[in-house]
Amino acid sequence: YDDQKKLGFAIVGLGKFAQEQMMPAFKDCKHARITALVSGSPDKAKKLAAEYGVEAKSIYSYDNFDSIKDNPAVDVVYIVLPVGLHAEYTVRAAKAGKHVLTEKPMANTPEDCQKMIDACKKANVKLMVAYRAQYEPFNLDAIARIRKGELGKVMQITADHGRIVDPTGDKADTWRIQKKLAGGGSLMDLGIYSLNATRYLTGEEPVEVTALEMSDKADPRFKEVEDRIHFTLRFPSGILATCTSSYSTEGVKRYRVFGDKAWLDLDPATDYYKHNMTIGDKDGERKISLKEGNQFAAELDHMAECVLQNKTPKTPGEEGLKDIRLIMAIYEAARTGKKVKV
Ligand code: NDP
Repeated sequence: YDDQKKLGFAIVGLGKFAQEQMMPAFKDCKHARITALVSGSPDKAKKLAAEYGVEAKSIYSYDNFDSIKDNPAVDVVYIVLPVGLHAEYTVRAAKAGKHVLTEKPMANTPEDCQKMIDACKKANVKLMVAYRAQYEPFNLDAIARIRKGELGKVMQITADHGRIVDPTGDKADTWRIQKKLAGGGSLMDLGIYSLNATRYLTGEEPVEVTALEMSDKADPRFKEVEDRIHFTLRFPSGILATCTSSYSTEGVKRYRVFGDKAWLDLDPATDYYKHNMTIGDKDGERKISLKEGNQFAAELDHMAECVLQNKTPKTPGEEGLKDIRLIMAIYEAARTGKKVKV
């Protein structure tokens, strides 16, 4: 592929996920390359610029970020900042006339999500939320099997996501326990994978939610954000989903879809590299073998293709807003102990 024909991406926020997963994935992209870096840490930015072949004049700070509008090498701004900063940088990028890819969860509140959608619409630029699982081969295969009726009529789903949040061991967890920067706790960060999966697996939007929350307020990690939250969703066709989200149990990222003929299990379902699918019915179970793909590169290429072909992204701002609205309904259900209609 001709490197000069690829769209230029500016990476905003050079943290753990950007450095360890997303930036290395560009080497597998057909339509995307890194052409600018935006960071509050000049030394780190300089080092990464050298590594990725980014010109010194295309390194920005948060203060001079708006001057990116004058950089023709930048087509897309990719926001990999703490959640509470996504809205501000999306609006600033749109004002600079750049297309926006933002990490999940989209923003702290539905109001912020709406501001992001409006700003991008006004500037006539694309807005996509980085829901990598929706570009990942095993998840896409699960959706295709369900749509083909391989499980029969889908009746219920269980989905679990959790990991131990530990700001003393991992700097990237420092902002995750601050309400202002994270928007919330495990539900915003991890439970969103369970929630988003129930929506893409069913192809339906939930109509009712219930929830229970449990956080040890004596634990310094949970002064501002929640630890565990369990929620149930009812879908229009009658499908029920039971989801768990946790910041105090180790490594789970799985779901299981139960139809009236068969069930499909993906565990892990939302790992970076490894997925494991099993389908079972009354006669037994079988493993499904499928080639792992680079979901990060697929996601970046999708963004680039949408810009190149003037298409709406498969996971646009509206998709991010739907999850944030549902997350607010789940918090309300947990707080009030009542069913919340959505
Ligand atoms: P990190 O803390 O490792 O990175 C965030 C970066 O943002 C920092 O390194 C820093 O970069 C910059 N930053 C600017 N202001 C602040 C601030 N006030 N506090 C902290 N950092 C700041 O977090 P992650 O990489 O884990 O997460 C970044 C984003 O990516 C989040 O939106 C998160 O939800 C998302 N994410 C998505 C995943 C996925 O699978 N899709 C997985 C993990 C995270 P600099 O020094 O360059 O300014």
